[in-house]
Amino acid sequence: MEKFDVLIIGGGVSGLSCAITLGSAESKMDIVENKKILVLDSGESHLNKAELYNVAGVKEGTKGKDLLVSMNQKANLYKIVETKKDTVTKVNNEDNEYLIETQSGEKYKAEIVVFATGMQTIEIEGIGSQIIKHIRAPRPGMIMIENDNGIIEDGKYVTGCAAGASSMFSSAAGYGAQTATDILSLWAGKYTVIHDVDTK
Ligand SMILES: Cc1cc2nc3c(=O)[nH]c(=O)nc-3n(C[C@H](O)[C@H](O)[C@H](O)COP(=O)(O)OP(=O)(O)OC[C@H]3O[C@@H](n4cnc5c(N)ncnc54)[C@H](O)[C@@H]3O)c2cc1C
Repeated sequence: MEKFDVLIIGGGVSGLSCAITLGSAESKMDIVENKKILVLDSGESHLNKAELYNVAGVKEGTKGKDLLVSMNQKANLYKIVETKKDTVTKVNNEDNEYLIETQSGEKYKAEIVVFATGMQTIEIEGIGSQIIKHIRAPRPGMIMIENDNGIIEDGKYVTGCAAGASSMFSSAAGYGAQTATDILSLWAGKYTVIHDVDTK
């Protein structure tokens, strides 16, 4: 069974932002260069339906589905990151690591699991926290996973709208990057950010 350091459930805005930030550390932090990150996504991101005019740094009229494709491509540029289409059905804590099962019958092990599952229905056994009414959603029926500052328990994170971010692209992307820096900080043993610097 393949084992990953971080398995991200959900490859929408927050999940891919988290993966990209983690990936961007591969050439900058020695402890990250041999890590393995997997993103599993069932393909139902809210961004699929959006056309964006109010996102800082994103060209007006950009289609959400095109942005998802380019974010996915960007994540896969990093050698430590892999993305796959699949739906996670179960997450079990076994001897301080997680066993993740999917609809297609695959099984993975992971040290860290990140729920980046958005604010729609979530059908995963073993989340380990309550599913509650979303605290920032104007629309009825939207849900989130109860958490403490993005953490469910040691090694189990929740990010983006699933963690309670507002349903704006930048809020979800920012939360994903925040979760990634929390994980990098855990590995480094001190608070860490990854900044690109113009060396010319
Ligand atoms: C119609 C519409 C228009 C919008 N317009 C704008 C706008 O103009 N400006 C703006 O800033 N924002 C806009 N948004 C909001 C933006 O799309 C969301 O804020 C953003 O997509 C949330 O990111 P997220 O990662 O939290 O969730 P999502 O992007 O929804 O990603 C969640 C992902 O998790 C996956 N997933 C869930 N369960 C599982 C599972 N069990 N296994 C594997 N994968 C799973 C889903 O398939 C999905 O891909 C719009 C949204 C909608 C619906």
